[in-house]
Amino acid sequence: MNAHEFRRRGKEMVDYVADYLEGIEGRQVYPDVEPGYLRPLLPTAAPQEPETFEDIIKDVEKIIMPGVTHWHSPFFFAYFPTASSYPALLADMLCGAIGCIGFSWAASPACTELETVMMDWLGKMLQLPAVFLAGEAGEGGGVIQGSASEATLVTLLAARTKVTRCLQAASPGLTQATIMEKLVAYASDQAHSSVERAGLIGGVKLKAIPSDGKFAMRASALQEALERDKAEGLIPFFVVATLGTTSCCSFDNLLEVGPICREEDVWLHVDAAYAGSAFICPEFRHLLNGVEYADSFNFNPHKWLLVNFDCSAMW
Ligand SMILES: *Cc1c(COP(=O)(O)O)cnc(C)c1O
Repeated sequence: MNAHEFRRRGKEMVDYVADYLEGIEGRQVYPDVEPGYLRPLLPTAAPQEPETFEDIIKDVEKIIMPGVTHWHSPFFFAYFPTASSYPALLADMLCGAIGCIGFSWAASPACTELETVMMDWLGKMLQLPAVFLAGEAGEGGGVIQGSASEATLVTLLAARTKVTRCLQAASPGLTQATIMEKLVAYASDQAHSSVERAGLIGGVKLKAIPSDGKFAMRASALQEALERDKAEGLIPFFVVATLGTTSCCSFDNLLEVGPICREEDVWLHVDAAYAGSAFICPEFRHLLNGVEYADSFNFNPHKWLLVNFDCSAMW
């Protein structure tokens, strides 16, 4: 495809996308296919000869769309909302064109700096404490992760490294394996399944704290678990508090859990993946009170802030 054809196909694609979104309520929300439906409909190996763009687009309607769950249908009520907007679709197109990899400032200065500034904007909209922001010195600040699951894993690994180094500094003979065996992370029994998975990948125990009558993690249950585990010689090092659980949008009590984590020198990660965007509204900001105790905080603009998957904001 050359630039000439790209201009033509690009405009056709914009029309296809606009038609799709304008007519989405006419499509069946959940596909009528059985697992494995796709493989028999496709060649067993990549074709040797090219196909026309028309034929490929025909396959989208014939083969792909029948297997799509239409998350943006007004009749979609599963899981949680996922965001999409026309400006975000256009931005994705521009990103594809620039196609830069932003692993360092020099790899693309605009990429690195725009991320830093936008994360500060978002942090200010949420009224995060100033220590979370990069500010003019450009130190610290937030980073974009692909998903909240990644944010939880990254913070768990950071907390694991921090506690390991700290314990090894105090007793140089301690091996990493000895320490890892004893590390325990905690989350409420309402936490997202990605928290349990982060524990599995991180190779540490993860214990579920029983939530109260309002599905919230409270001080007493957390304190009880910490005391019991410390008495058994285990090392509590990481707590995930959820603000807006996926199953019922319950809120862990951050103002109770935060001080305990600080007292016990345990890393507190706050997962507000789904509800986080709501804290921009002054009338909901109080639900974020206690974030000043957190070592890390995360929410998903791709859930409720008009940004297409994937964009998870982590400080
Ligand atoms: C949706 C959700 C997640 C997972 O988000 P991903 O970005 O899909 O990884 C984690 N925690 C909570 C509370 C969620 O609602």
